[in-house]
Amino acid sequence: MNLQLALLEKAACEERLAHLLLFYGESALHQREVALRLAQILNCSHRTSKGPCQACPSCHKILSGNHPDILWLKSPKKSLGIEQVLNWQEKVYLKHFEGKYKVSVIEHADSLTLPAANALLKVIEEPPERTIIILSAENAEGILPTILSRAQLVYFPDYSEDAWLEGVGDRLEAVQALTLSRKNQNLATAILEHGVLKVQEWVDAFRGVVKERDFLKLFPLFPIDKQNAILYLQVMAVQTQEGIQKGIIQPFELLAIGRALDVLRQQVNPRLVIEVLALELFQQGGALCD
Ligand SMILES: [Zn+2]
Repeated sequence: MNLQLALLEKAACEERLAHLLLFYGESALHQREVALRLAQILNCSHRTSKGPCQACPSCHKILSGNHPDILWLKSPKKSLGIEQVLNWQEKVYLKHFEGKYKVSVIEHADSLTLPAANALLKVIEEPPERTIIILSAENAEGILPTILSRAQLVYFPDYSEDAWLEGVGDRLEAVQALTLSRKNQNLATAILEHGVLKVQEWVDAFRGVVKERDFLKLFPLFPIDKQNAILYLQVMAVQTQEGIQKGIIQPFELLAIGRALDVLRQQVNPRLVIEVLALELFQQGGALCD
């Protein structure tokens, strides 16, 4: 078990768990397991330092999905609508039936419609007593910022990522590198070696230049050596790829970045390549937005 989950369990044992948790990442199954285990820890009548007993009625009911104080909200459809949240909200404010803690798990929280998210926000702002709300989602970016800012974020890597994360030093920085590289582990390793913040700053600055079409603002981005230029453009390429999939970036931007990368790998002045790329994106009206 990773350190982050161990700390969560410890907080649950000591009954000082945050009222709102956001589990995010691709492993929905693992998220569900951890949510169940936290619910058990909070409600088990013979809890030990190793966790829930798995034998008391409370543990049994939680595991079989029959505990009246453990609520699961999931949508059969593509989005979670306002009626479902209002329905859930009524149950959340009812008195506890038998448990010490109510635990509500909202699955696919990144599919909440805006009205539904706003209804959820009201509950979060006036939390019922001894109630933990766990949002489970694939992407944290899909969550309303006002909800996000109130939640304790818990990232669930998939198994290969988990192994990669175990092998690197600072976990928080490594998660940022994975995010920046859109889960490309080779690229994430290169980003980590170079420094997450440095990469992020350069890429953001370049995007700013293109957005404002201000050639003069390119100058602080130099000098740049070839290896760094390749790394930065690779990060932009994976992010652009994602933007194209979402339909917010035009495919020509990826082509332009790909061409620049090809040229960079030959004996060319990296500054020249970056300048040409910026001009090309200016002309095509690219914004490289995220
Ligand atoms: Zn138990």
